Amino acid sequence: MMTKEDMLALRNESWREELRKKLKNKERASISRTHMPELNPEYRSHNYEEVNQGLSLEQALVESKRCLDCPDPQCISGCPVGINIPMFIKNIERGEVLEAARVLKETSALPAVCGRVCPQEKQCESRCIMNKMGKDPVAIGYLERFAADYERESGSISIPKLDSSNGIKIAVVGSGPAGLSFAGDMAKSGYDVTVYEALHEIGGVLKYGIPEFRLPNEIVDVEIEILRKMGVKFHTNIIIGKTISYEDLHDAGYQGIFIATGAGLPNFMNIPGENLSGVLSSNEYLTRVNLMHAGRSDSDTPVFLGKRVAVIGGGNTAMDSVRTARRLGAEKAMIVYRRSEQEMPARVEEVKHAKEEGVEFMNLYNPIEYIGNEKGKVKQMIVQKMELGEPDASGRRSPIPIEGAIETIDVDLVIVSVGVSPNPLIPNEFKGLNTSRWGTIIVNQDTMQTDLSDVYAGGDIVRGGATVILAMGDGRKAAEAMHVGLQTNNKK
Ligand code: FAD
Ligand code: SF4
Repeated sequence: MMTKEDMLALRNESWREELRKKLKNKERASISRTHMPELNPEYRSHNYEEVNQGLSLEQALVESKRCLDCPDPQCISGCPVGINIPMFIKNIERGEVLEAARVLKETSALPAVCGRVCPQEKQCESRCIMNKMGKDPVAIGYLERFAADYERESGSISIPKLDSSNGIKIAVVGSGPAGLSFAGDMAKSGYDVTVYEALHEIGGVLKYGIPEFRLPNEIVDVEIEILRKMGVKFHTNIIIGKTISYEDLHDAGYQGIFIATGAGLPNFMNIPGENLSGVLSSNEYLTRVNLMHAGRSDSDTPVFLGKRVAVIGGGNTAMDSVRTARRLGAEKAMIVYRRSEQEMPARVEEVKHAKEEGVEFMNLYNPIEYIGNEKGKVKQMIVQKMELGEPDASGRRSPIPIEGAIETIDVDLVIVSVGVSPNPLIPNEFKGLNTSRWGTIIVNQDTMQTDLSDVYAGGDIVRGGATVILAMGDGRKAAEAMHVGLQTNNKK
């Protein structure tokens, strides 16, 4: 991480001083936040084209002027991978967009991804000084996406500087954002990094979970290609703990192992009727559609095409499922959420987009039973109306059933999206790993090291279902700590 002195030195560079002199803070603050151009809701709810269209160069230049280049920029500490936010934004303002992209890649392996899916409103943008001035924060996410896309479209993609090879072999288990971020940082430090992935595609949830209308696969592929060019090796269709054991990894000479296997085990509510045909988890539904391309005429993978679809839950996964159902022809697509919109964990933008696409929100409702037809296929759901009580352990007001307020609603597909748990395979197979009662791997929070000294872990396997950028932050932290540990050990 950069020290405060280094940051100040960069801020004092003459070109940044010139920019600050050009426009007063008052003038900068008077510019309104740029709107993201989007596809028309009626058009987009019938296809998989990316909804957000990205800023034009002109829009990005205007938005970049809104950043005040604060002497003590709080936005950076709101970013789990510590992107030098004012530095990349000021590079856009002076027209050096490729340099802005290079600054992003110093600390982030996936800027085009994060610019699209990070909950910026809860992270960097929530710390922007503009909030305190009663203004909208600088659109940091839009600008991040702009710089990364600009570089990709320019064709001159830069590869981060690599230290000379030290020949030390490192294994990464899982190719989601935690694994990719870790792999990138270790490759930069000169390690020989190999990523093992159970599925046939690299990217974890970025590929099998988040739909293309939010994050096109080609964007993820380009970022993975950069890692390949940095020397990272990828092996797909290998389940560590089954195909290859912990001992096999040692025998193959790996001196460090990073576990980034995510939390892919869907939770259910255990209510009557949940095992009916036509009731499935959002993981299964989205994996069928995103990874196996079900729903396309040339795919062998089947998927239920419901006309009256209920999605249970209020997170990003629920929004992705319900918007996918609309695209697969649902006439009535409903979100059934037991709290109110204020408590919804989904990104604000996803909720807005879902509403624009005609999704109905049944907030303060909870399903209590599903009813099937004579063939065992779901035909109705019974829902309980709720009200909000006192805040619970999560800090959100807890939902309480209103006695007697029960309704029956016709449905032909139910997608359950009420959270995920870690897959127990690695915790069971790597003897000596300590786990919590939720099945997450317990690590030292400063280093991400587990109870097995050569094994580090991060992302959803440590946190439970969290976010892309928190997973990436863990990857960075683990890489830094493993590097220090290995350098010390190898000097002895
Ligand atoms: P994952 O992305 O889950 O990757 C783990 C990888 O490990 C998988 O590819 C898996 O196949 C592989 N693996 C598992 N076990 C093994 C094994 N034994 N051997 C080899 N490989 C193995 N977050 C956001 O910030 N913004 C969003 O908009 C957002 N939307 C989401 C939408 C959906 C539908 C979902 C499901 C999640 C969303 N999230 C979002 C959450 C975010 O995607 C996750 O927090 C993040 O992907 C976790 O990263 P990870 O690297 O820990 O794990
Ligand atoms: Fe720019 Fe806002 Fe960060 Fe200040 S806090 S440097 S205004 S993005």
